[in-house]
Amino acid sequence: MDFALTEEQVAIFDMARAFGEEHVAPNAADWDNAGTIPKELWPKLAELGFGGLYVSEESGGTGLGRLDATLVFEALSMSCASVAAFLSIHNMCAKMIDSFGSDALKERFLPGALSMETVFSYCLTEPGSGSDAAALKTKAEATANGYTLTGTKAFISGGGYSDAYIVMARTGGDGAKGISALVIEDGAQGLSYGGLEAKMGWKSQPTRQVQMDGVNLPAENLLGEEGKGFSYAMAGLDGGRLNISACSLGAAQAALDATLHYMSERKAFGQTIDQFQALQFRLADMEIELQAARTFLRQAAWKLDTGAPDATKYCAMAKKFVTEAGSRVADQCLQLHGGYGYLADYGIEKIVRDLRVHQILEGTNEIMRMIVARQMIGNK
Ligand SMILES: Cc1cc2nc3c(=O)[nH]c(=O)nc-3n(C[C@H](O)[C@H](O)[C@H](O)COP(=O)(O)OP(=O)(O)OC[C@H]3O[C@@H](n4cnc5c(N)ncnc54)[C@H](O)[C@@H]3O)c2cc1C
Repeated sequence: MDFALTEEQVAIFDMARAFGEEHVAPNAADWDNAGTIPKELWPKLAELGFGGLYVSEESGGTGLGRLDATLVFEALSMSCASVAAFLSIHNMCAKMIDSFGSDALKERFLPGALSMETVFSYCLTEPGSGSDAAALKTKAEATANGYTLTGTKAFISGGGYSDAYIVMARTGGDGAKGISALVIEDGAQGLSYGGLEAKMGWKSQPTRQVQMDGVNLPAENLLGEEGKGFSYAMAGLDGGRLNISACSLGAAQAALDATLHYMSERKAFGQTIDQFQALQFRLADMEIELQAARTFLRQAAWKLDTGAPDATKYCAMAKKFVTEAGSRVADQCLQLHGGYGYLADYGIEKIVRDLRVHQILEGTNEIMRMIVARQMIGNK
């Protein structure tokens, strides 16, 4: 058993970290305030191969494993979890196209996805169905040459911002087997967006409803096979859960690093506050928690990379554990900054706000426990 990263993995982490420090960290607060991320950022990230992190090399992607990809998200999140998480969603879509799309669909959409000239969003959730995603109601009715889509997707990261959307819609009967995945491009007739959602965190990512009112799509826009859309949508989620965990980990680590530094300078009662043993113990607890989270996350990623039969359970366990650990640490870091932690200038309150949603999306942490418990009971 070897817990060390390879030289190549260290290089991947360092490259993402350096990019984040140069291009993201100095702007993260402004983008948070502006409620958007300049589109010019994405092609720059794509130059590093981050537009198709786990798209196969034959298709022009970077062909990384899932553990390697978590390193990218951990490193980028040290500069901004919201930017890193948005990149994760785009990558999930790119991977879906590469894994399940026809050659023609790949030819049409992969080059833009890889260069990030075409930014993708993932549309599963609806106003009436979140955790119970297979209950979705958006309809894709067959026409002579394709489909007509009608319905509303809720909470879409990049809604009204992205260039294309992978939409899960019902082409058949009730349940998961009646669902297909289709690609809709921005500008399609009948496609519109709801108002910008005012959110607690992830503010730099625009979140809107994506509304389809009789959007006509040619049959070529179907991703893979009819009736398999739900399984495609779920296929990306194990990895998505690792990524979102990595985003919590990286941002919480950045908060802890900043807190250590702050405590070495801030004085109270005649000494720097890192000299109080009560606070030293809290530092130690945070270090232990993040190291445990990192080890667990990488083990889950390794399970997914090696096709272990319990990979889904480990991804769910890691997602629950790491996202909660990340939020706890970020909250403690805010506390240790005293009043300054509450001010935007110090960057900690943004981390607290950004990380909170990681317990809700990519499957809520209740659903993660459901996955784990089902496996435990089933394996009795
Ligand atoms: C900022 C943000 C961005 C998002 N981006 C996207 C996106 O890009 N694309 C997309 O498709 N979706 C996106 N989502 C949606 C997200 O995936 C859903 O919010 C999430 O799946 C939960 O669904 P829900 O909000 O409908 O909650 P519900 O499913 O209604 O759950 C409400 C509560 O009940 C609990 N619960 C539900 N069922 C069970 C059960 N069986 N057992 C125990 N507890 C249960 C949940 O854990 C939760 O605590 C985003 C959400 C947010 C907040």
